[in-house]
Amino acid sequence: MFHSARLKLTAWYLVIIMLISMTFSVVIYRVLISEVERFEHVQRLRLERRLQNSDLFAPFNGLNIVPAPLLQVNFELVEEVKQRVLFILILVNCGILILSGAFGYLLAGRTLTPIKEMIDEQNRFISDASHELRTPLTSLKSALEVYLRDRSQTLSEAKTLARESIIEVNKLQSLSESLLQLARSENSGIPPKFELISLTHCVKEAIHKVLPLSKKKKISVKEKLEDIHIYANEHSLIDVLVILLDNAVKYSSIGRNVLIKTEKKDVIAQINITDEGIGISKKDLPHVFERFYRADSARSKGVSNGGYGLGLAIAKKIIATYKGSIYVESEVDKGSTFTVCLPL
Ligand code: ADP
Repeated sequence: MFHSARLKLTAWYLVIIMLISMTFSVVIYRVLISEVERFEHVQRLRLERRLQNSDLFAPFNGLNIVPAPLLQVNFELVEEVKQRVLFILILVNCGILILSGAFGYLLAGRTLTPIKEMIDEQNRFISDASHELRTPLTSLKSALEVYLRDRSQTLSEAKTLARESIIEVNKLQSLSESLLQLARSENSGIPPKFELISLTHCVKEAIHKVLPLSKKKKISVKEKLEDIHIYANEHSLIDVLVILLDNAVKYSSIGRNVLIKTEKKDVIAQINITDEGIGISKKDLPHVFERFYRADSARSKGVSNGGYGLGLAIAKKIIATYKGSIYVESEVDKGSTFTVCLPL
């Protein structure tokens, strides 16, 4: 598809360039030829005038005509000039055709590549998302089918099924919300509204949001905060902090500590979130910010309530809209530190 679109675009470039070039050629040809003819006419008049005053062609004097051989020479010269101009213009147009064909093909490739990348990315996103949606939907469907087929089910079994179904539906809901958030952060180039906000306020809000889980796991989230004000979008910044804090708590054992630190470094606000959790292996580290990536350690250690591998991808997209950066340092079984740098 890309190739045929590229060829079509090249053809359109060629049509436009050749139309312009040929129009110019016709104009140039007509102007040149009319100039040559005018020149030839003036020459003929001069010749006639000279002949009238010359003894050389005495027999023609007073007749006001130029001898035929002289006229023939003039005529041949004009014809030759016409043909040469035509030949040169055809040659130039052929050159333009070849050059614009080659450049047009290159240019069409350059124009279409970002579009192709965007379409590829969207297709990947759709196939990843449908793959992730299929698993909970399939298990929900088969549980309900089994229930319908077996007529001897008791009320308590029906209730258990309903409870399990709600868990699956909740998973689907959180997945669709994450997908929506990711799509939104991918489509909008910049956050909706930037204003001067307190980073400390955002951190407090984020800690408050992860409180239920951190309480449940008896994890205390410690703070070491500098008073920093930053131009940002409060909601998206809190979203990033919640993702990182939620992961720090989620991937830590019961009773461990999580520390969130903010500090000003020149023109940068730096946020560190450090946990003493399961850590990330060297193999997984380069991939954790990829969409739908879940590290093996998280699976093998059976972290309950593990997500779909979308959180860090969303965080990275949001940070990119701030022209900031996010990276992670981690050691298996020792813990991880996620660092976010935001320009002030
Ligand atoms: P998920 O919703 O699965 O947590 P994320 O995109 O937030 O998705 O994280 C991607 C993967 O990175 C996780 O599955 C997990 O393996 C790993 N990860 C992220 N944060 C941490 C952390 N603080 N400690 C250990 N592993 C982490």
